[in-house]
Amino acid sequence: MIVTEKAPAKLNLSLDTPMRYLDGLPKWDMVMVSADLADYVTVETHRRPATIKVYTNSGFLPNDQRNLAYQAAHILRTRFHRKDGVTINIKKQIPVAAGLGGGSSDAAAVLRALNNIWRLGLSLDELAKVALAIDSDVPYCIYNKLAHVTGHGEKVELLPAQPHYWAVIAKQQISVSTPQILRQINYEQLVHLDNAKLIASLKEQNWQEAVKYMGNVLEPLTMQYYPEIGRLKQKMIDLGADVAQMSGTGPTVFAICHTESRAKRIQNSIRGFCRDVHVVTLL
Ligand code: ATP
Repeated sequence: MIVTEKAPAKLNLSLDTPMRYLDGLPKWDMVMVSADLADYVTVETHRRPATIKVYTNSGFLPNDQRNLAYQAAHILRTRFHRKDGVTINIKKQIPVAAGLGGGSSDAAAVLRALNNIWRLGLSLDELAKVALAIDSDVPYCIYNKLAHVTGHGEKVELLPAQPHYWAVIAKQQISVSTPQILRQINYEQLVHLDNAKLIASLKEQNWQEAVKYMGNVLEPLTMQYYPEIGRLKQKMIDLGADVAQMSGTGPTVFAICHTESRAKRIQNSIRGFCRDVHVVTLL
């Protein structure tokens, strides 16, 4: 049986971390949303060969156990004592190492596909528990809906869908290592967000109020190495974005606009110096 799953990019409407756990990982306090910029992940199972194979259309990605999609198949196969082989084909459209959670979304797509193919009958909440063993963003990517995400990433509280908005997603040619940025967080220096107010505004579907509380506490950290992230963000704001900020640990910057024409205008204005720009709707 073959199943194809859409694996959308995630954006952090807010990203905060109040502390580090004893295991060294950050405790998260984030509001995440998915965008209609997606990889397509096709999963096929077979008796022979009884191995896991990953193929992608990207020359930059590992296709062995370092690929998060491979890890997803391996974990589910081991946990449910399946012996079949799994072939995964990833049509990559989400920029890699961009702060858009592409690897996490591919892994979540593999979990959903295998749950279906093997008729495991796991609910999305059960799949999200399995997902945490892969990476902190994978539980969220099981759902791909506006949500408040806390803990190590395993607590995902869905929030009501918002009216239609457009996002301009722009990745400059910079590579950011997420583990490297996370190791450097100095908790004394972080300027925290008011996520409670953001969540209350989103629950009331009051977007104009919600944008006041969006933000990413890691921006100053990544921007100290890459000031061009701050310049791109400012340009998007000058061009009339409702909000513009970095996603994850960067380098991607996104702008949110309430009209498509405004989003297209921003896209056209920044294309000259940033080639990887997408106008998409939020899911
Ligand atoms: P995060 O913030 O969760 O680290 P990201 O959006 O910054 O994610 P990804 O595109 O997920 O970045 O890639 C992060 C790293 O994960 C890269 O070094 C990449 O080689 C590795 N990786 C493993 N599997 C995948 C995959 N299927 N797609 C993209 N990257 C993958």
